[in-house]
Amino acid sequence: MILNITALPGDGVGPEVTEEAIRVLETVAQSFGHELRVTRKNVGGAALLASKDPLPTDTLQACFSSNAVLLGAVGGPSFDEFPRHLRPESGLLRLRRELGVFANLRPAVLFPALEDCSPLRPEVVRGTDMLIVRELLGGLYFGEPRYTQGDPGGRIAVDTMKYSEPEIERIARVAFDLARTRLRKLTSIDKANVLDCSRLWREVVTRIGADYSDVKLSHAYVDSAAMVLAARPADFDVILTENMFGDILSDQAGGIVGSLGMLASASTGGAVSLYEPIHGSAPDIAGQGIANPLAAILSHAMMLRYSFKLLAEAACVERAVSQVLDNGHRTRDLARPGQKSITTSDMGRLVVEAAKETAAQRVAS
Ligand code: NAD
Repeated sequence: MILNITALPGDGVGPEVTEEAIRVLETVAQSFGHELRVTRKNVGGAALLASKDPLPTDTLQACFSSNAVLLGAVGGPSFDEFPRHLRPESGLLRLRRELGVFANLRPAVLFPALEDCSPLRPEVVRGTDMLIVRELLGGLYFGEPRYTQGDPGGRIAVDTMKYSEPEIERIARVAFDLARTRLRKLTSIDKANVLDCSRLWREVVTRIGADYSDVKLSHAYVDSAAMVLAARPADFDVILTENMFGDILSDQAGGIVGSLGMLASASTGGAVSLYEPIHGSAPDIAGQGIANPLAAILSHAMMLRYSFKLLAEAACVERAVSQVLDNGHRTRDLARPGQKSITTSDMGRLVVEAAKETAAQRVAS
């Protein structure tokens, strides 16, 4: 198969983790007899510096003419004072909107070898394996009007949370369909005791749930769900939630399973799907070669599974990651006090070697 991919490494640790993930992808493609074609383009701060636009036209065109898009991360403190439309993050939001990727899938899985990396006790975190389905194109991040007005000292700022029934319905169906491939347990998270958007959300999700009587649906308020996530993370199977709640809860889930550097994501539902680690550009560690590339690598595995239906290839990447962790290798974010840590490129190299071995065993059997 020809895998025609656009890679947008972006800013900060984005290029560091993306390059390692592409190395793993090249290995798997070669081992399984596929041809990988990667076009690299700028996005975010890198694109702003090169062409004064966080999402240049040629980047978008390249994305549309490929089978899948891989993104690193965007943003950084040097862009914090830029006007909103010129911030790196607005390039990413535009990219998601242009591609029409409304369904963001964020698996938060505790690898058994990382039990002692969680801030939670092993018996609490053991068995955590949830899929957060986050609505990606609505809510506060896209609602209009949004503005800041007035004079310093008396300014007001407005953001708008807005959801339509069709927007809720389409993401709910994605989540219910995915629940059917898992434990058939879906928790819809909202703030229906306060927000109109959430009341509509709950009503529509309940209505769609009637078409999925084999899936056990429950509803939770976001504040109480955040507490349960910390107290009993293994209770969750599929979480369905709106844009901002999903953004926040998935970072919390990242902390729970050991590190933000472990959480992959797939943004689907549009013309071309987008795969990216959930973490940001991590300016505090960028350029030091110590970022954890596993979230990026696991995002590429999601791409193999969802965009190309290459299930054995995706499993090969996931098994390689698992094996490297089982062998005790840790980047700094995963290392316990006194434990040796390895660099971003060492972690990439080890996953490449493990993937080669896994692919060879498969061919032999
Ligand atoms: P962040 O996710 O970049 O970092 C949060 C913490 O996690 C930091 O301590 C960082 O060192 C650590 N971390 C993140 N990724 C890691 C990795 N792969 N390995 C090891 N440690 C890792 O969030 P932030 O600091 O709030 O944001 C930094 C910038 O990134 C901001 O400009 C923000 O807007 C942007 N951001 C971008 C995205 C994206 O591109 N999708 C997502 C979130 C934040």
